[in-house]
Amino acid sequence: MAQPKLSVLVVEDNPLDREAFRRYLQQSANFDYVILEAEQGEAGLRLCQEAQPDAVLVDYILPDLSGIEFLTHVKAAMGANAPPLIVVTGQGNETIAVQTLKAGAEDYLIKGQLGPSSLQHSIEQAVAKTSLQKQLQQSETRFSRAIAEAPFPIFIHGEDGVILQMSHTISDLTGYTACEIQTIRDWAERAYGDKQQNVLANISRLYAANQRIDEGEFEIRTKSGENRTWLFSSAPLGQLDNGTRLVISMAADVTEQKQTEAALTARLKQQAALAHLSQVALSGVSLEFLFEQTTQLVADSLDLQYSRVLELLTDARLLLRSAAGGPSELVGQFTIETDADSQAGYTLTMQQPIVFSDLQTETRFHGTSLLRDYGVVSGMSVIIPSHSNRPFGILAAHSTRRRDFTQDDINFLQAVANVLATAIDRKRIERELHQLNLTLEQRVQSRTEALEEANQELEAFSYSVAHDLRAPLRAIQGFAQFLKEDYSAALDDLGTEYVRRMASSSEHLDTLIQDLLAYSRLGRADMHLQRTSIAVVVQELLVELESWVQTKQATVEVASDLPLVLAQRNVLKQVLNNLLSNALKFVSPDVLPQIKIWAEVIAQSDHAAERSPQVRIWITDNGIGIAPQHQERIFNPFERLHGIDTYPGTGIGLSIVARGARRMGGRAGVESSLDQGSQFWIELASA
Ligand code: ADP
Repeated sequence: MAQPKLSVLVVEDNPLDREAFRRYLQQSANFDYVILEAEQGEAGLRLCQEAQPDAVLVDYILPDLSGIEFLTHVKAAMGANAPPLIVVTGQGNETIAVQTLKAGAEDYLIKGQLGPSSLQHSIEQAVAKTSLQKQLQQSETRFSRAIAEAPFPIFIHGEDGVILQMSHTISDLTGYTACEIQTIRDWAERAYGDKQQNVLANISRLYAANQRIDEGEFEIRTKSGENRTWLFSSAPLGQLDNGTRLVISMAADVTEQKQTEAALTARLKQQAALAHLSQVALSGVSLEFLFEQTTQLVADSLDLQYSRVLELLTDARLLLRSAAGGPSELVGQFTIETDADSQAGYTLTMQQPIVFSDLQTETRFHGTSLLRDYGVVSGMSVIIPSHSNRPFGILAAHSTRRRDFTQDDINFLQAVANVLATAIDRKRIERELHQLNLTLEQRVQSRTEALEEANQELEAFSYSVAHDLRAPLRAIQGFAQFLKEDYSAALDDLGTEYVRRMASSSEHLDTLIQDLLAYSRLGRADMHLQRTSIAVVVQELLVELESWVQTKQATVEVASDLPLVLAQRNVLKQVLNNLLSNALKFVSPDVLPQIKIWAEVIAQSDHAAERSPQVRIWITDNGIGIAPQHQERIFNPFERLHGIDTYPGTGIGLSIVARGARRMGGRAGVESSLDQGSQFWIELASA
């Protein structure tokens, strides 16, 4: 197997020595030595630079240079690339040895004591050592570069307080140059200001650690005065030759992350505040309380000192309605002109949110004493809208520290103003509604009075009809009767017929008047509903109508389970009387009336769930029936479907049925078709 090559430059003026060295080296079992030779120092120097041998063997005394000078020249010319140099000398002594080694020789050999193995050993040792040193140096260079170029802050520092190395990122992020922070003390002083003692105490503990320590977050101040948050962790990094313990401290710059987190937390706080405010606004509290809550909430959520509500008055002035952070004594008192040189006035003019970062340098408006006297530096203001053309006023928020408000902050303030606007509008509508209700009540009262007056007039009219009209009518009836009884002999057939018609007409008129009075009374009378038995009322009626039922040869079937209802007994009796009478009356002459009276409980529909159950009472007959198109109008007064001669009547009966049922809280109806009998019903509350 081929041996590895090793090139050696021999700088020696004595040819015999050169010869000896060559032989010694060529005997090597480990390397294939390539030997270059030079007789003089200068020539050797040139050859060394050209050929860059692995090692140089140089005579201590050359014709043109000393071995030491040669050494110095090689080191100067080749620097870190200089090959290892071994000095050989004929007359060795300790002083020469020390001198050569100090000058940078790897070894010092004495010609008389040299043999093949000692020469080979010395060269190979020197080559191996130099190679190791080179590797070490390269690795150190790589390490240094890795630290310097690391994309995050790294310090390497010793317990003596010296910063041995730091990454460029530190300067990039903080603005401090490596010269400005040569020691940990420099760093602590610049980055931590007042807190430097604490930080130094913390750092001093790191040197004793034998494993990584996560130190946590530190606020550092940059050269430009900005604050940044660094998350530090440190680890031991061995010791220097002199025993100084080293630590590597690394940091992650989490400033942006922290800012995002803080912004998010602020947004969440604002959202919660807005939700709370909406709730308060809906709960119908007073506007004063709502304004107070609003300004307090705005100041808290935005972490500001002041928040104010100003109301735009009709005289074009703005009135301070609420002030979180003060001045509370001016609330309800302090006013400013809208055209004044104020932030509020400017907001109204521009009709958009206004933001300023520094009142001192603000040029758009000067700001009133409300800002100037309270140390306001930054602020924002929005319009509180309203449904009318005029806005309600201004909502403002101010800080005594400089603050650059974000679009999110402005959006929040506007959202709060909008909630306020809704609440204010609600209040206005409530007020108007209240006012309207008041006038409504007044209107109802005056209508009621008018109605009562009209009712009294009607009462008077009814009285006059009952007494005044019926008195002459009874006179006519009486005289007709006299005529019939006392003068029947003097009257011929036609005269007798006239008298009969006169009597029957006046009788009809009397019934009509009585029916009308009953109908009118029903409209006015107070209703006192009581538990009433339908069965009892029907029985009484049947007794009263008994002779008519017999004459008509009618059958009346009454159900045995008629329930109790809420009714006024006399009205119910009148209603049932009218229905029963009609059932007996409106039957073809050749048909025997068959009447049924029964009742059922009506199933409740959903929307009627709150009403008490209803009972429907049916009176059905086998009479002439009613065509569908007439079924509604027959419940109106004077509506009749037949001539008075065929079926006598006044046309008031069913009107009384409908009105009676309605006045007792129920209703009436009919199901029928012509010639098929009729099924009349009334519905009343079950008792
Ligand atoms: P009146 O009985 O005095 O005529 P109503 O108001 O009681 O007045 O009835 C109005 C009209 O309704 C009657 O004239 C008749 O044409 C019709 N009517 C009422 N009840 C019945 C019935 N049971 N069968 C058929 N028609 C009826």
